[in-house]
Amino acid sequence: MKPRDTQTFLIAAIIVLIGIIAYLILFPCITPADAPPEKAPDARDTLYQVSTINALLQSVYDGIVPISEAQMHGDTAIGTTDGLDGELIGVDGGYYVIRSDGVAYPLDGTITTPFISATFFDPDFTIPVNDTADISGFGEQLESGLPSANMFYAIRMDGTFDYVKTRSMPKQTRPYPKLADVVAEQSVFEFHNTTGTIVGFWSPDFVSGFNVPGYHIHFITDDRTAGGHVLDLRMNDGEIKVDITPDLYIVLPTEGDFYHVNLTEDLSSALESVEKS
Ligand code: ZN
Repeated sequence: MKPRDTQTFLIAAIIVLIGIIAYLILFPCITPADAPPEKAPDARDTLYQVSTINALLQSVYDGIVPISEAQMHGDTAIGTTDGLDGELIGVDGGYYVIRSDGVAYPLDGTITTPFISATFFDPDFTIPVNDTADISGFGEQLESGLPSANMFYAIRMDGTFDYVKTRSMPKQTRPYPKLADVVAEQSVFEFHNTTGTIVGFWSPDFVSGFNVPGYHIHFITDDRTAGGHVLDLRMNDGEIKVDITPDLYIVLPTEGDFYHVNLTEDLSSALESVEKS
């Protein structure tokens, strides 16, 4: 370069540099497009779900998401663990699995789940429940207090229950049987005059095949030592705390059985026998 060209180049370079500095001073809040947001805006009102209920009914039992990751999406959860090993419940950020021996085990974050629903529980309103003779009565009182049948709700109830009947499933090994057949092996537990916590979700009918329409609730005792998937309950009076959960985040398995099972069938009657029997 000639000396004059060098001078012109240096002046141009300085002007560009001043421009960049001025831009950064004037627009300090602008972040590069590839910088992820620190937190999704409505993450606390998001129903986080791994896989689908019909995949579980069709024996997709291999865990795909570690519990530690699910815990980042919710302090309240229900589901199961790798190999259909028991009934999972998350309460106040602590995750437990009630295995087929009826014992609630605190879950290690490295254990994986094939199916879970989780959210951060921030109650929006409460529904009083009185003299519920059975779980159908509980369901009716819950549903009569919901503002819409087209919404997801996380629900929680703390207190003393006259009676709670729960179940848990034994861990499965390959070849995996269908969930409707595993029910024959379930263990059933009964609690009388027990204090504890029920958590779960109420989902609209349009989730059929994808999650459980209506209520799906799990129980854990106050001392966090026992519980399970709730089959029946009876209580005098109490109050259901309800968290409206309008956002949905779903994680599907990207390999394994999920890629090959038939998810086109209507499995609603199989679901009914699995969830309520
Ligand atoms: Zn359950």
